[in-house]
Amino acid sequence: AKERGEGGYQRYRPGSEARGAERHRITAALTAALERQEFLLHYQPVVTLPEGRLTGVEALVRWVHPKRGLLGPAEFIPGAELTGMIVPLGDWVVHEACRQAAAWIQELGDRAPGTMSVNVSARQLQNPGFAEQVARALRESGLDAGRLTIEITESTALGGGATHDVLRALRAMGVRLALDDFGTGASTLSLLANCPVDQIKLDRSFTPGPGPAAIAGAVLQLARAMGLEAVAEGVETPEQAEQLGDLGYERAQGFHFARPMTAELVTVAITEPADL
Ligand code: C2E
Ligand code: CA
Ligand code: CA
Ligand code: CA
Repeated sequence: AKERGEGGYQRYRPGSEARGAERHRITAALTAALERQEFLLHYQPVVTLPEGRLTGVEALVRWVHPKRGLLGPAEFIPGAELTGMIVPLGDWVVHEACRQAAAWIQELGDRAPGTMSVNVSARQLQNPGFAEQVARALRESGLDAGRLTIEITESTALGGGATHDVLRALRAMGVRLALDDFGTGASTLSLLANCPVDQIKLDRSFTPGPGPAAIAGAVLQLARAMGLEAVAEGVETPEQAEQLGDLGYERAQGFHFARPMTAELVTVAITEPADL
């Protein structure tokens, strides 16, 4: 039986007889949303420890749904991955993030966020055209490749297919790679040994508070030994920020510093720093 949500597809159930129709409907909804420009990027600051100075931002996609309001990625990325619509949506995300990063540099000069981080799904990296899309986004925006970081998860990096060639091509262009949600995958260490990345992002479940400080400390030592940058995610309290600083973390992200926000609010936070 097909239960149709109001303009949504959140009732998708694997194994239901309507699976084909469901996919078709998700594809149509996402195609229309792309055409109507209903997607939007929010940006979450990444800051230095212990100062809390802005060093970069992470782009996080949103869907301004005409009926359901502002939707987070959990509500539409799975459907986009299932249907392959993540490819055109992801291309839009890369282009928009590069455009915004370059606009901030024009507008704010030295005060612009130093780096722009973009999340990508396995399916995007299995598409050999992805590296060319990134190259185009950099060319069209004029953004330096070194200011763009592509965030992949451990499962994404194990994606097979063209994934490794795409990752190698991105790195050859000078784009930086980050291993997101570090520590939550099944083969974290073997992956780190085999997949050349520049940064690891300690998953928020391992940020001290929920997680033991010993793990956060050991991950930092591992990053240092391998010459990688470490970012602690999901920092929600001043105590967590203090503890990470004491452990030696130099980069952090989380609600304690700033929530994801519109580009306009990031600009305001930079030009009126009391608000950050
Ligand atoms: P992520 O890459 O791990 O992004 C961080 C998520 O944690 C964001 O949720 C952010 O709002 C949230 N967060 C940030 N600070 C804190 C904190 O202090 N505490 C807690 N509890 N949460 C915090 P969001 O925006 O809902 O994104 C969820 C996931 O969706 C992302 O996880 C990422 O995997 C995926 N995603 C977001 N944008 C994109 C995109 O453009 N493309 C793809 N393929 N995936 C995306
Ligand atoms: Ca991320
Ligand atoms: Ca993460
Ligand atoms: Ca201290």
